[in-house]
Amino acid sequence: MLHDAGFSNWVTTAHKLYKEHSISNKLEIDSFLNLKCGAMKSIVKKGSQENIKTNWHTDISDAGKQPKLRTYMKFKSEFRFEPYLKLHNVKIRTAIAQFRLSAHHLRIETGRHTRPYTPAEKRLCLKCNGNLIQDEEHHLLLCPAFANQRMPLLQCATQYISGFVNLSDTEKFIQILRCENTQLLTALGTYLINTAKCT
Ligand SMILES: [Zn+2]
Repeated sequence: MLHDAGFSNWVTTAHKLYKEHSISNKLEIDSFLNLKCGAMKSIVKKGSQENIKTNWHTDISDAGKQPKLRTYMKFKSEFRFEPYLKLHNVKIRTAIAQFRLSAHHLRIETGRHTRPYTPAEKRLCLKCNGNLIQDEEHHLLLCPAFANQRMPLLQCATQYISGFVNLSDTEKFIQILRCENTQLLTALGTYLINTAKCT
């Protein structure tokens, strides 16, 4: 009654939650309002989790709007807690996080801030003569300037990723970034730390 008369009470809050968490797809408003508090809470919680996942998928799929996510969306397809966050070594954890989020000094990123602006196809690696774009994949797997530092990482990847040597470069990149193995994650972080000062 109070809600219908324009006053705010628990029904107003319930209406708001009903709308915000897309519960209308599953339940009529009257049935929702007749639920016991615990059941209502559990439906709202589920709806809000689904909303977060949907928004997350939409955001990361739209690389046109957010060019920084162009690499992230290659390997991050699932909404989950990332195993690298459980690593004890903070430096390694930070190095992996920064690389995953393109918070690094590779030319694919620094070229976005040059004046005049450098188009993506011209952000070439200055460490090798390959005339190739210095992006995350080039840095992690291909640049010959870091061949020595890369050896432990590749050995570890061969050991822990099934069929690694036969994968395409992009697939190798994705598999390394998606891996859950602590030794491989540590080798990845170590490579990133050892090469960061040279990029
Ligand atoms: Zn290079």
